[in-house]
Amino acid sequence: MHEMSVAQNIIDIVQQAVPPDRAPAVTSVRVRLGSLSGVVVESLAFCFDALVADTPLGRARLAIERVATACDCQACGGRFEPDGLIFFCPSCGSGDVRLVSGHDLQVVDVELDDVPAEQPPCP
Ligand SMILES: [Zn+2]
Repeated sequence: MHEMSVAQNIIDIVQQAVPPDRAPAVTSVRVRLGSLSGVVVESLAFCFDALVADTPLGRARLAIERVATACDCQACGGRFEPDGLIFFCPSCGSGDVRLVSGHDLQVVDVELDDVPAEQPPCP
């Protein structure tokens, strides 16, 4: 099941980004998901919830941001959103295009509860 390993991946990233004692303060994890990544949003959120349940990250919820596919035309330099999986530049008709986004899945932000961190004493 693809979504389960993606969710585990996200959790690994969060655990590397947040010190273990701050894990219970994590309320939201913002993820950018390309429309070509093949990940089903509902399924990913479900897997994430299941994996963090009864762990220090149990309060964390996924906030998934969909990213549209974008292509750069190498011939005329135009950027466009391809229609389906056929990539042709709509302005010049060139097939020499480069996919710039759509496959990626990245963790963009981790939100922590606003618990005041312990301030170092003033010098
Ligand atoms: Zn073009």
